[in-house]
Amino acid sequence: MTSQPAAGVVKNAVAASVQGKLQSAWRNAWTKATFLAFCWASLAIFVGTAFLIYYLVHPRLSAIGLWLDHASIIALCCVVFVVAAGLTLITVSALTGWDLLYPHGKQSVTVKFLFPIAATLSQILHVDRAKLRASFIKVNNALTMAQRKRIRGDRILILLPHCLQIDICNRKLTSDVSNCARCGRCPVGGLVDMGERLGLKVEVVNGGTLARKKVATFNPDGIVAVACERDLTFGIQDVHPIPVYGVINDRPNGPCYNTCVDMHLVEEGIRFFRKESALVA
Ligand code: SF4
Repeated sequence: MTSQPAAGVVKNAVAASVQGKLQSAWRNAWTKATFLAFCWASLAIFVGTAFLIYYLVHPRLSAIGLWLDHASIIALCCVVFVVAAGLTLITVSALTGWDLLYPHGKQSVTVKFLFPIAATLSQILHVDRAKLRASFIKVNNALTMAQRKRIRGDRILILLPHCLQIDICNRKLTSDVSNCARCGRCPVGGLVDMGERLGLKVEVVNGGTLARKKVATFNPDGIVAVACERDLTFGIQDVHPIPVYGVINDRPNGPCYNTCVDMHLVEEGIRFFRKESALVA
C-alpha cells in the first residue's frame, strides 16, 4: 500500500535532481561574453541614437548660436568617451583579471547606464533575461576577483535567501540564524555551521529590503550572496561598490521554493575573500 507514494517521491527527487543538473549545465555554458557583447551593442545603439539626434537638431542649435552647437557636440563626445572608456576597462578587467577598474570604490556609471539598454535589447532579440543576468553575475564575479588586492577579508557577510529553508521548517531565521537547529533537512544548517566555523556573519533574508538593511548594519568588506539571477543582479547593483561574489541557487522545485545551492561555490567565494587556498580541514 505504501510503495506507490514512495515510488512517487523517488520519481520527484530524480526529476528534481535532473532539472538541477540541467540548470547548472546551461549556467556554465553561458559565459561572460554574452553580457559584454550586449553592453557593446547597447553602447553602439546609444552612440548611433545620440549622434542621430544631434544631426537632426544641429541646424536649430547653430541658428541659436555657434557656441551652443559646439558645446553640445563636445558634451556628447565627453559622455560617449566616459562610457566607452568605462566599458573598455570593465571588459579588459573581466577577461584578463587585471585590476583596471577606475575610479576605485565608486558607482559604476557604465554598468548602471548600459544594463537597462542591454536588458531591453535582449528582450527585443528574445534572449532569455535570466541568461543575460547569469552572464552579468559571471562578469561581476570576475570584476570582484580582479580587485582581489584591494579587498580586505575581515568582515565577510554570507547572505542567504529565505527559500533555501525547507518549507516544513518553522524556525524564524530572518531575525537570527542561530535559531537553525542544523537538522540537515535543508542547506541552511551546513552554511550556518560553515559561517560559525570560519567566524563569518551569516544572514537569511526574505527580500531586497531586508538584505539592504543587513548590509547597512554590518557594513561588510565583501559579500558572498546566494540568490536567483534576478535578485542577485539587483542586489549587486544595490550594494555597489561593496564587492559581491554571487552564487546562483538551484531551483529543482520551481522558483522560491525549497531551493538548493552548490556548497563548493559558496566555499569558493569565501576562500576568495579570505585569500585562502583551503577551507575544509
Ligand atoms: S537545517 Fe535549520 S533551517 Fe533547515 S530545516 Fe533544519 S532547522 Fe530548519
